[in-house]
Amino acid sequence: MSSTRPALPLTGGCSCGAIRYEIVSFPLLLYACNCTDCQKASGSAFALNMPVLARDFHVLQGEPKGWPHLSPKGVAVTSRFCGDCGGRIYGERAGRAEIVNLRAGTLDDTSWLVPVAHIFMKSAQSWVEPAADAGCYETQPADFNTLTLAWRAMWPEFFPKK
Ligand SMILES: [Zn+2]
Ligand SMILES: [Zn+2]
Repeated sequence: MSSTRPALPLTGGCSCGAIRYEIVSFPLLLYACNCTDCQKASGSAFALNMPVLARDFHVLQGEPKGWPHLSPKGVAVTSRFCGDCGGRIYGERAGRAEIVNLRAGTLDDTSWLVPVAHIFMKSAQSWVEPAADAGCYETQPADFNTLTLAWRAMWPEFFPKK
């Protein structure tokens, strides 16, 4: 497993480079979602979801297109993607304007990404094997706070104990 430590700002963008962004505070969380909607949207086995503070997420170049739709649970969400190459970059959720949910694979440096939990394991591909200390949930955790605490413990340099 990689042992690289990231430095702020984190930078990333879409495949064609039309959209570029930076994140100036450390992400709030990183988890893998194995639900069938994330499989469909990513064209892969799971999505790597990285909530970041919206005020610290800056699109530096380009203007992502938006696809407003309803999540499986009926929540209004907008997926943001590059209009040229179609790469999904982040999502926004109605009633939660302070957070954007970044697709972590769009970061320039993905070598340090270790999800603190896997959710919706009930629809995970049979070969998906979360890290030994990762939280595993059949669907959603009752409380994401447990995940947040575990994430913060992984990154003491960004979340110093008060
Ligand atoms: Zn693009
Ligand atoms: Zn999902």
